[in-house]
Amino acid sequence: MALISKLHGKGNTLPKGAKRTLGALSQSRSMMTAKELRIGMQMTDGDQAPGLTTIYRSLDLLERMGYIQQVHLNHIGDNEKRYQLVNPGEHHHHLVCKQCNEQIMLKEKDCLISKLETAVEAEYGFKLQSHVLQLFGLCGGCLQNQNPTKYIALSHS
Ligand SMILES: [Zn+2]
Ligand SMILES: [Zn+2]
Repeated sequence: MALISKLHGKGNTLPKGAKRTLGALSQSRSMMTAKELRIGMQMTDGDQAPGLTTIYRSLDLLERMGYIQQVHLNHIGDNEKRYQLVNPGEHHHHLVCKQCNEQIMLKEKDCLISKLETAVEAEYGFKLQSHVLQLFGLCGGCLQNQNPTKYIALSHS
């Protein structure tokens, strides 16, 4: 993974736990919780896998450094934070289906709210440094599977 070698190349002083957490996250294609990461690390490292506390702390650190992004899926209700890898300085926005939990990453190259950032700075003299934007709804598949009798036809007669 290019990111990992970049980190090593710069003589980056990430704590060992954070390096391993980042490595585990870079091997997974989807977003992961600390617990899921730990299960993955236990499969490769056995007893040597970092503990949950280390992983939580590492995820916080990596998020602050901009290597990973938290994806907010609070409607799942398990109180677990979910993270995915991003290129340093970049971030993504997602469409989240509240029924099947599918997450669709928006393809737009520019952030949807970069214009708002400029407006906020002009209007309030406030420099935005980060933001969270997620759009919740129903994906195409779930929409098709919905029971049409749920809808009450409006009568105009
Ligand atoms: Zn869905
Ligand atoms: Zn954005």
